[in-house]
Parts: sequence; structure tokens; C-alpha cells
Amino acid sequence: MSKQTDDFFKNVISHAKEYGFVFPSSEIYDGLSAVYDYGQLGSELKNNLKTYWWKAMVQLHENIVGIDAAIFMHPTTWKASGHVDGFNDPMIDNKDSKKRYRADQLIEDKIARYEADGKVEEAQQLQADLDAALNADDLSKLKALIEAHDIVCPISGTKNWTDVRQFNLMFSTQMGASAEDAETVYLRPETAQGIFVNFLNVQKSGRMKVPFGIAQIGKAFRNEVIARQFIMRMREFEQMELQFFVRPGTELDWYNQWKETRLKWHLAVGGDPAKYRFHDHVKLAHYANAAVDIEYDFPFGFKEVEGIHSRTDFDLSQHQKYSGKKIQYFDPEINQNYVPYVIETSIGLDRLFLTVLCNSFEEQDLSTADKQDSRSVLRFHPTLAPVKAAILPLTKKDGLPDKAREILNRLKIDHNVQYDEKDSIGKRYRRQDAIGTPFCITVDYQSLEDDTVTLRHRDSMEQERVAAADLEKIVADLVGWKNLLGGL
Ligand code: ATP
Repeated sequence: MSKQTDDFFKNVISHAKEYGFVFPSSEIYDGLSAVYDYGQLGSELKNNLKTYWWKAMVQLHENIVGIDAAIFMHPTTWKASGHVDGFNDPMIDNKDSKKRYRADQLIEDKIARYEADGKVEEAQQLQADLDAALNADDLSKLKALIEAHDIVCPISGTKNWTDVRQFNLMFSTQMGASAEDAETVYLRPETAQGIFVNFLNVQKSGRMKVPFGIAQIGKAFRNEVIARQFIMRMREFEQMELQFFVRPGTELDWYNQWKETRLKWHLAVGGDPAKYRFHDHVKLAHYANAAVDIEYDFPFGFKEVEGIHSRTDFDLSQHQKYSGKKIQYFDPEINQNYVPYVIETSIGLDRLFLTVLCNSFEEQDLSTADKQDSRSVLRFHPTLAPVKAAILPLTKKDGLPDKAREILNRLKIDHNVQYDEKDSIGKRYRRQDAIGTPFCITVDYQSLEDDTVTLRHRDSMEQERVAAADLEKIVADLVGWKNLLGGL
């Protein structure tokens, strides 16, 4: 990360804390590593992002329905899905610093250093060796690479390493009243399995016809070996997933359609298109026949925000095998029974939140020849903004607060709006800019005479005079969902 992007990222994180978007979890006890709480504005923004996804996926598609499955699932689910045996990261500990690392990431950091030093051949060779070791699940080879390339612990500076071990990322706990009959259950590491195990329930109760989709938003938990970069890699996070069930043989067409649909959805939020790209997976998971990530150019580089996977019939077939229940669909058009194929779109809500913060945050220099001035602004899409409008009486007296509150009471039924009468109007505008409020409504002395108010626009800072009686319609038009969903 260059100094400039590093500073930008630090500013985003401190701004998010200062204005009530994201706090470290249980901060009074010094926080819990890689766990975060969303504050009063963060939870509003997060809810709006969820609504955007839900409306775009469920409400706009006749053949997609949404569910809300439990976080705990029967433990056999995770045997069938492959997570008990295969959801591992290779980890290594440094005996001096007692710090734990992902072995593959230590090696990747070394590759990046070779590249930065212009040692192209060394970088390419190490990358090839790393890929070979990972493909072969060869843990001793990973350790040998760490030793051969003199990789030291960033904390202790020593090469005093333990062996590389596999580390399962699932959190487990005990369910049951007494120790004897307690059963080990897992906190789900992905929401997808809650959809697969409900395939028949939803298909039958909803009379769904292939192709159709089941969508879900919910928490997922992974005991990440190392967690870093703020809400990028968390131990408790939220996913928004769609499993779209199709006739075998048609899956790659659907896969390509969903790629385009999802990229368009990201771009509609208003970010710079150059900051998004597809990244095709070269090495596919054993169950996938195509996979791509949508990556966003974070201050620390392009990283995955959403994965789109053509998962074949792997998941449903596995559940069929482990449960002993027939999980099939009778397709009346071709008069055949089959296990549907699946296209998955899986986006991390917290990573999406971070893209929106990074896209929106700006420190603007507003200085003129005779006055220094600046503002911090979050240029959220108005439909997603946590607070849609602030209602501000110019002064605290002469009936202006009463008039402002009357407007507030009308608008608050449909929108999250704020009332603020403290400090100068200029300061109040800056406060609203800093939390991304797209519109400020100011009640002044003229308002008492002709029932008009000023409407100030966050991005242009322009003001216009509008009739107070029209405000419900004006605000509804400016922040309505059609502004986001209409173009999809
Ligand atoms: P990564 O390679 O970054 O670990 P992944 O490939 O394991 O991610 P998936 O299993 O495909 O991720 O999960 C789908 C989405 O869930 C990801 O695109 C990401 O947005 C989100 N996600 C996964 N792990 C985390 C995490 N630890 N914290 C926050 N979001 C996550």
C-alpha cells in the first residue's frame, strides 16, 4: 500500500468510528480480534444494503424466493458439504513471538517482496512451487519453502517455526442440557447449506419450477487464522447468497447471465467502473465447473467482494447421499427426474459495506482566495444513505423549531430523518455531509411567511427554494428505490 492509500484507508476507518458506523467489538475490554459492531449509522447503511440486495434478487425476480434458515444445523450437514474434512487453512506458528500465520500467505508476502525488488524469476518460481504444494496438500513442502526462502516472522524476526498444520475454520460448540448427551454443533461457515437442505421444502411449498432460485441473508462464522484489514476479513460476518437451480447442461449459460447481472448491480451503486473487475478462478474447487470473483480495488489492492460459482449438482447430491432422502426435481417439460445444477452468487455484506465506504469517502478542499475551508463527505447513493434528510431550523427561536418539527413529523413516517438545531447552519451542513445525508431542509424566516424552505444538495452544495407542502413527494422521489432498481 502506498503512503497515500494507506492514509486514505486509515482515514476511512477512523471516520467510520467517529461518526458511529463501525466500532471494534467490546472495545471497553480492548476489543475482540476481527469482530466488529455496527453503530447507529452503520446499521442503517447495512440494512439499506441488505434491502437493495433483497429487492434486486427476490422482489425483481418472479422465480426467486427468500428464506431465513437457522445458524445451527444438523452436524451431518457439514460432513456432507465437505467442511468437516476440508475447510482448512495451513497454519504455522513462530515459537519466539508465539504468533500464528497462514503458511500460504507468508509465502505470498515473500513473492510480493521479490516482485517489488525486481526479482521476477524468483517470484515466478516461488509462485509455481506454492501452487504445486497447495494442490498436493503437501504441508511439509510449504514449510520447506518457508525455510528455503529465509522467511522470518515479521514480529520476532526469527526463523524458529513449528511444522505447518491444517486448521479447521469452523467454530464448534456443544448443544444439549447435560454433558452426556451434548452434541457438537457448528456455527455455520456459510449460509448456502441452509438453502440446499431446504431445497425440497421450498420447491414443494412454493410450487417452484426449475429454473428458480432461493436467496438468503445471514451471519456466517469462520475462525480465520489471521484476520486483517478492518471489516474485510472477520470471524463473524454476514453473507447474501443466491442458489439458482437449473436444468443440467444449461448451467454455463446461467453462470454467464448471473455474472453480468451481478456486476451491473454493483455498478448501479455509483462506484467508478474501473474499480471493479472479474477474476476467473484458474484452479477450480472439485465440485465447480466455472468460478469467478467480482473484485474491488480496495486501498490495499483488488480483492474479492463476491464469488459466482457453477457448483454442478454437488451439494444436492451430497445431501441426498448423506440424508438418504431423494432430492430431485421432476421436470414436466422434458418428462425427467434429475438433481438440479446450481449457480451460486455469494457476496459478503461487510465487504460490500467497505466498498461503499471507500467509494464514498472524500476529503474536499473548499478553500477560496480569501478563506480556507474543507469538508469530509460521504457521497452515498441517496437511496442507501443512512439518513435521508436533516431538518434544520435556522435559529432556535421565533417558532422556527416548531415549523421544522412539523416537517420532521411528516417525513419520519417514510424515511430516516434527523432534526438538528445546535450550532451555526454551516456547521450543521458539515455534520450532515460527514454522515452522508444527501439533503438538508432549512426552515428560515421566509418559511413562516410563504411556507417555503431551502433544500440543500450534499454533492453540489446547491440550494433551491421549495414549497414545504411538497416535501413528502420531493424527498420520496429523490431517495426512492426506483432510482437504484429502475436501471437493473
Ligand atoms: P477469501 O478467499 O477472501 O477468504 P472466500 O473465497 O473464502 O474468501 P467465499 O467462501 O466464496 O469466500 O465466501 C463468499 C463471500 O463471503 C466472499 O466473497 C466474501 O465477500 C465473504 N467473506 C468470506 N470470508 C469472509 C470473512 N472472513 N470476512 C468477511 N467476509 C467474508
